Amino acid sequence: MQPTTQDLLDLYERLFAVYGPRNWWPTTGGGRFEIICGAILTQNTQWRNAERSLASMREAGFWSFPEVHAATEPALADVIRPSGYYNTKARKLKTFAAVVEEEHSGSLDALFDRSVPELRELLLGIWGIGEETADDIVLYAAEKPTFVIDRYTTRLVNRLGWKVNGRGSYFDYKRLFEDLLPADAPLFNEFHAVIDGHGASTCTSRSPACENCCLLDVCPTGKERVTA
Ligand code: SF4
Repeated sequence: MQPTTQDLLDLYERLFAVYGPRNWWPTTGGGRFEIICGAILTQNTQWRNAERSLASMREAGFWSFPEVHAATEPALADVIRPSGYYNTKARKLKTFAAVVEEEHSGSLDALFDRSVPELRELLLGIWGIGEETADDIVLYAAEKPTFVIDRYTTRLVNRLGWKVNGRGSYFDYKRLFEDLLPADAPLFNEFHAVIDGHGASTCTSRSPACENCCLLDVCPTGKERVTA
């Protein structure tokens, strides 16, 4: 079915009542630097591994863009081993640090002082920054309204039986939310966070806990599962 704005707001309210507020993005005092590094480090791995790498970066003194920029790639890679693909991710962190330090005089405010489309385009042009990472940075570090899509979001939309226009690309899922909701950064922030809470704890990949799900009465997949 084609969801309406009311369907999306109803989804949000139900999930928020169970999982919210989640106070995303989780940081340990490193602010926007930590959010950006976390968004890169969590690529292709679980968040807890990214957290271990962030803790190591802090301990090693790679805890600011100038420090990451000055670090050697092998030294940084060694520190971020817990999150995997450490050589590639060290290069990504250093590439991002170079954009901040060399092209924006070390100022994230200068980097973020763009419209959402301009900022997304700039971020997507940085080596190692894909759509989800770019949106994480725009929403959680720059605090600008862009909807983040991840595997929990696509899984939930599919299980709810919602029609996604197009070929089911990242952008198609993103448009489903952005076309129907007001461009509201706090709403997008919390919405993505509660979807992730739901996807991690209830609507899991292999054994969703449909019997106890707050969406069971509106979810065709869940109804099918509990009556099977
Ligand atoms: S009812 Fe089951 S499949 Fe549907 S959203 Fe809930 S956990 Fe996921």
